Amino acid sequence: MDNLGENFDLPAHVLDEIQQNIEDIILHFDIPEGNKKDVIKKINFMYSQTRYMSLTDSLTGLYNRRHFTECAEREFLRSKRYKSDLSLAVIDIDFFKKINDTCGHSAGDYILKEIAYLILENFRKTDMVFRYGGEEFVVIMTETALDRAIIPLERLRKSIEEYPFYYDGKNLKITISIGVSEVIEEVADAQKLFENADKALYKAKENGRNKIYSLNMF
Ligand code: GH3
Ligand code: MG
Ligand code: MG
Repeated sequence: MDNLGENFDLPAHVLDEIQQNIEDIILHFDIPEGNKKDVIKKINFMYSQTRYMSLTDSLTGLYNRRHFTECAEREFLRSKRYKSDLSLAVIDIDFFKKINDTCGHSAGDYILKEIAYLILENFRKTDMVFRYGGEEFVVIMTETALDRAIIPLERLRKSIEEYPFYYDGKNLKITISIGVSEVIEEVADAQKLFENADKALYKAKENGRNKIYSLNMF
């Protein structure tokens, strides 16, 4: 069900290293001189496909959890170093299990794809959207403080609430809950930034779902 992380098991930096040394590697094989360029081309093509697979989720085409970890750490460090604003949101579909149970797994997959598209559509090109797990998504908003982050998140929450999901002859009503956090002095690492958003998400669920919460709201 949750196929994230199973796409390919070599971390991106190892793939990069192999790719950078591909010409040296090729020299160790007994390939006729005239074919070497072709072989390098083919390997480079395979490399870009493999790299893409290692960073993305095959159902939604979004970046996967592995890539999230890399990006969150990098953006956190950037934000601390340059004192730039950074917000992170965790988005979770409400009562998603019910969709699978009552309408079937392929209806669930359809919803996941549509929601991935709606999330992508709602954010700037400089923001990053990830499928973190089954029905959970994360958005990293660079150069964005929490009060600003709320604006596209609220727009997203509303657009999903109003979106006419339609599958196999049935109209489906879907809502999402959102937890959001920002980098402030006390937030020591990217993990903590994520945890704060996740805790806020838990509060949004507790307080009725279809809501956006941040830690300073309670
Ligand atoms: P809550 O409002 O508390 O978030 O309830 P929920 O039902 O959304 O949460 P729960 O964590 O109980 O269930 C998540 C469900 O997501 C379980 C599984 O049925 C579904 N799911 C996870 N990954 C996939 C997937 O790749 N495809 C489909 N169709 N369903 C998935
Ligand atoms: Mg969940
Ligand atoms: Mg859920």
